[in-house]
Amino acid sequence: MAGNRTLAIIKPDALGSGKAGKIIAHLEAQGFKIICARVIHMTMAEAGAFYEVHRGRPFYAELVEFMSSGPCMPMVLQKDDAVAAYRTAIGATDPAEAAQGTVRKLYAESKGRNAVHGSDSDENARVEGTFFFGVAALV
Ligand code: ADP
Ligand code: MG
Repeated sequence: MAGNRTLAIIKPDALGSGKAGKIIAHLEAQGFKIICARVIHMTMAEAGAFYEVHRGRPFYAELVEFMSSGPCMPMVLQKDDAVAAYRTAIGATDPAEAAQGTVRKLYAESKGRNAVHGSDSDENARVEGTFFFGVAALV
């Protein structure tokens, strides 16, 4: 059975340009409930650790630089089948390819500066939630 939590991040582009409220309202209107949330400014080391899985990819350095360029807002969100439901809500990685009405189509600037992060599996949702919130992400 699919899990009911996922880890979302409102990325520095969206938080810095004042889009957090609209993005949260959009997600709440779709039934996502905020379980944990905080605003943090990650160091390059922290952003590098969070995106360790992408180390070696051509965009890794750009991604770490961007994610540590300003504050961001990690959140644990709850909804039935949360990982899949949230990825449907945010749309494709590249806003040019994201479906109409998705968060990235509405609010993302580019494939790199794409407004939000979302876990890609229940296992990664637990790992990523714990990265930012410890055991509070799980209880
Ligand atoms: P998603 O966030 O949709 O799960 P990935 O896990 O593939 O996408 O990539 C993680 C993040 O790395 C993306 O959200 C985006 O910010 C960045 N990224 C991915 N591919 C590229 C790319 N080709 N050029 C620049 N940035 C990229
Ligand atoms: Mg991903």
